[in-house]
Amino acid sequence: DVLINQIAAGEVVERPAAVVKELVENSLDAGARRIEVDLEQGGLALIRVRDDGRGIELDELPLALARHATSKIASLADLESVDSLGFRGEALPSILSVSRLTLGSRTATSEHGWSVSGAGAFDSSVAPQALAHPPGTSVEVCDLFFNTPARRKFLKSPSTELRHAEQWLRRLALGRTDVGLVLRHERRRLMDLAPVTDDATRDARLKAVCGDEFLEHRVLVDESRHDLRLTGWFARPSFSRASADLQYFYVNGRCVRDRLVAFALRRALADAMHSTRHPAFVLYLELDARAVDVNVHPQKTEVRFRDSARVHDFLFGAVQQRLRDLRP
Ligand code: ADP
Ligand code: MG
Repeated sequence: DVLINQIAAGEVVERPAAVVKELVENSLDAGARRIEVDLEQGGLALIRVRDDGRGIELDELPLALARHATSKIASLADLESVDSLGFRGEALPSILSVSRLTLGSRTATSEHGWSVSGAGAFDSSVAPQALAHPPGTSVEVCDLFFNTPARRKFLKSPSTELRHAEQWLRRLALGRTDVGLVLRHERRRLMDLAPVTDDATRDARLKAVCGDEFLEHRVLVDESRHDLRLTGWFARPSFSRASADLQYFYVNGRCVRDRLVAFALRRALADAMHSTRHPAFVLYLELDARAVDVNVHPQKTEVRFRDSARVHDFLFGAVQQRLRDLRP
C-alpha cells in the first residue's frame, strides 16, 4: 500500500504547489469561508493549510489518511489507465506517503479538536490525539519527498516552488472571490484577501492579485449573446505586457488556460496594440454547461467547447466592441 500510495503520489503530488492545491480544494469542499496557507522554503520544508470549514468527525479522521488506493487500483496496469479523477479520495494518503503529515480537525459540535499523523505511512494503531483547535481543519505537511530522494531531486529552488504555489493561489483568488485567503511565506504575509462583498473589496482583491497598474488601465466587459456571457476586465492596450503572466480566464468559474481563448483575445486586441505584446485580462465566461467540456488534469485545466467557432467569435466580438466604445 505504501508503494501504491507513493506511485499515486507521483500523479497527485508533483511539487509543493500541487499539495497546496489538493489541500485548499479540500477546504473549499468543506465549505470554508477563510483559508490560510503557510509555507516554509517554498513549501519544501512546510505546507500548512488551515480552514474554518465543517471539520472532520473523530471516527472519520483516521479514514481520511488510511483510505488506500487498492479499491481502485488493483495493479500497476490499472494504475496506468486511471485518469486523474480516478484518484479522488487518494490525495491525503498520497501526500502522506511522501511526507510527514499531521491532520487536525474539529467539528462545530465538538468541544476540542483531534489529530492524526504519520510519516510516509499511516499507523492505525496510534490513537487520535486530543488537541486545542478552532472549528475547522488544519493539515501540516513537512519535508515533502523526504523518503523519495529521487523525486526530491527534481524539485526546484524554494523561490521557484513558491512562485508556482502563488500562481495557483492567485488564480483561485480571482475565481473564488467569496472566500478569504491568506498566504504567508516564512511568516511574511504575501496575500491577505478579504471575501469580496462589494466594489471596494473586489477592487482590493483585483489590485492585490493584478497590481495597481492593471486597475488603472482596466476596461470593464459585460457582454451577452444567447447563453454566452462575458464579464470582467481587460487592460487598455497601452498596458499590455511583455509576458503572459496576467491572463486569467474562467469558464463557468473554473480557471482555464486555453489556446483558442488566448488567440481570440490577442487577435481582438492586436489592432489597437501595435505590437506583439501580451494582453492582460481577467475574464469570466459563463455558458450552458452542456456546451463545454472541462477536463481537469492535475497539471493543467483544459476546456473543449462544443462549438468553438461560436465561442471564439463571441469573445473576439465582445472585446472588439469594448475597444470601439473606448474610441473618442
Ligand atoms: P477527496 O477530497 O477526493 O475526497 P482527499 O484525500 O483529498 O480525498 O480527502 C479525504 C477526505 O478527508 C475527504 O473526502 C474529506 O472527507 C476529508 N477532508 C480532507 N480535508 C478536509 C478539510 N479541509 N475539511 C473537511 N474534511 C476534509
Ligand atoms: Mg481532495
